Order: sequence, then structure tokens, then C-alpha cells
Amino acid sequence: MPPPTLPENLQIPLPHFPHDPESVRGFLHPNEGRALYHLAQLAPPELPAMEIGSYCGKSTLYLGYGCRHAERILYTLDHHRGSEEQQPGEEFHDPELLDPRSEQMDTLPELRRNLEQAQLLDSVVPMIARSRVAAQGWGGLLALLFIDGGHSFADASTDYRLWVPKLVPEGYLAIHDVFPNPKDGGQAPVTLLRRALTAGEFEQIAQIHSLAILRRR
Ligand code: MG
Repeated sequence: MPPPTLPENLQIPLPHFPHDPESVRGFLHPNEGRALYHLAQLAPPELPAMEIGSYCGKSTLYLGYGCRHAERILYTLDHHRGSEEQQPGEEFHDPELLDPRSEQMDTLPELRRNLEQAQLLDSVVPMIARSRVAAQGWGGLLALLFIDGGHSFADASTDYRLWVPKLVPEGYLAIHDVFPNPKDGGQAPVTLLRRALTAGEFEQIAQIHSLAILRRR
């Protein structure tokens, strides 16, 4: 049987959701979001999905609604202190997400509010941790892994090295912010894509804007 595929036309509107993911702040093209929604349903049944980098929950909502439809649990992992480029003075800093008491970034309240409004707390499990620490205690297998965490070479490489081995055959790996041309963006995510393809364990099934989608052989 040929593997399931994403819809050809990602413009087709999704079902009505209690909380529109497009109203959530974040960095995701609507077609990337729709692809994640469908991917969460295509992935092998019964096993959970893992998102690395929740931020305020935009992609989490797309994935979460897809997972709920597939009766799958989505774990979404973030330390919620913002990545390097989201710190004060950096390109992607949002002053509204700075906690005045700690003077640190804090995206957790926003994620929680969005998950509550989305009515997704029965399907989505937020994990507040650094990726390396969470991976140490994670013994299970994954049907879907979405890597959208720290975009430094060190962070991206750690996420790949620790989490990709947990992905089952025929499971999906999605990588965000893949820019083959350095003029378009940082180069860490595209190195993950090249690594996956070079190792021969994955085939790329789609590229939607900066979202690369691969299937494990
Ligand atoms: Mg991203």
C-alpha cells in the first residue's frame, strides 16, 4: 500500500476550531500550519507526537487539533525562556512576552491560555524543560517529531541527535525554518534536513515554505 500523502491543495480551509490557530502569535505560514494538522493524522496510529519548541502555541494548536482527530497525544516541549533570537534587543524579541518580575522571557502563560481556549488540554501535554533533560527520561517511541526549537547549530543538533532515534519507521520528521539560501535565514535547520537525507533513513515528501517534511523508511 502506498504511504498516505498530504492533501495537494493546502488552501482548503480546515474545520472550525474553538480557537483559531491564526490568532496565536508565532512564526508559521498558514499552509505550514495546515500541513502540520494533516500530518498529525497521517502518522502511524496510537503513538504520540512530539513538538520541540512550543513558543505561544501556534503550531501546537494545528498539531494538537490533528492529534485529537487521530486520538493521539501531542507532547510539546519548551523551556519557555525564549530562544537566542527572542531575547531583548534581538530580531525576534516580543516585549509583551517579557516577565517584568524575573526580567526573563516567559511564553508559558500565553501557551497555557491558548491551550485552554483551544480546549485541547485532553490532547496536548506541555512539557517545561530543556530538550536535553527531557530526552534523558523519555523512553517511548514517537510517530511524529516536529523540530522547531533553538536555532543555533548546537541546539538544533542536540534536538536531532536525541529525539530522531525515537521516531518509528514510517513516522514523520518535520523541520521548521529550513532555508537552503543563507540570505533567507539561519542555516542550522537546513543542516538537519541534509543530515536526515544523507543518512538514507529518510525521504523528503514535502517542502511547504520553510517546513520540510520527511518520512522515515
Ligand atoms: Mg520556527
